Amino acid sequence: MELYRITPGSIVDLSRTNPGEKVAFDHLTKSSSKKMLATMNRELSELQRLLWSDGDQALLVVLQAMDTGGKDGTIRKVFSGVNPQGVDVYGFGVPGPHEAAHDYLWRIHMRTPAKGRIGVFNRSHYEDVLVVRVNDLVPESVWSKRYKQIRDFEEMLCDEGTTIVKIMLNVSKEEQKERLQARVDDPSKNYKFDPSDLSSREKWEDYMVAYDDAISLTSTVDAPWYIVPADRKWYRNLVVSQILIDTIRGMDLAYPEPEFDLAHIAIE
Ligand code: ADP
Repeated sequence: MELYRITPGSIVDLSRTNPGEKVAFDHLTKSSSKKMLATMNRELSELQRLLWSDGDQALLVVLQAMDTGGKDGTIRKVFSGVNPQGVDVYGFGVPGPHEAAHDYLWRIHMRTPAKGRIGVFNRSHYEDVLVVRVNDLVPESVWSKRYKQIRDFEEMLCDEGTTIVKIMLNVSKEEQKERLQARVDDPSKNYKFDPSDLSSREKWEDYMVAYDDAISLTSTVDAPWYIVPADRKWYRNLVVSQILIDTIRGMDLAYPEPEFDLAHIAIE
């Protein structure tokens, strides 16, 4: 999945990416991908068990996307089969008064995963350099300092045992149009329609620039960004699953040694 990992120091330009491509699993189609996703689900489930039993490290998965980018669907499909007891999913919305009374990382830090656990952020502290920047919710002198603050914060988490993987689900403006239209047309999707999504759509180009900067300035060796083509949902699910599997495999985890001499235990 190195294909989609953003090398630290590189300059991202989302306008030059292709959200519809499927090169890593080119031989598959939507229907033939199902078997592979099921295999990956099982593997992720095994790896979660290993992470839990090892007990010394945590995994934080940050998911960001434009509206309709598929964060919810990705969580549902990728973590299907993983023991829900070991995964904490948290969605960050507009900060409430209590949250807004603190620095922007306060509410984030409270939700970082404990050792042995997987934490999934559905939106994250990156909103504080995305929606906040695009809508001028704080002055540039404030948001421009946040990239370094975020790098430092993530470095600290990593030094203390949390592996971080950040994934941007890269959906095209055309695909977003289709998905928004479906929310208007399909009664079972009406509940997902939020008129405020239209105002972010109007600022699409500004968001892309904010994403370019956020990803370029905060993709580090310890906390890399991946930009995942997300126009095809099945492809997105496979790529995200593979990224997580590769990441956990790289964490140097082990089942603990038994504390008893098992050779001398007899179950009557
Ligand atoms: P989603 O769109 O992810 O399904 P919601 O409908 O609850 O979830 O939307 C969450 C909203 O909160 C988004 O519009 C997002 O931009 C906004 N939000 C998240 N974090 C912040 C923040 N720090 N400041 C302002 N708005 C934020």
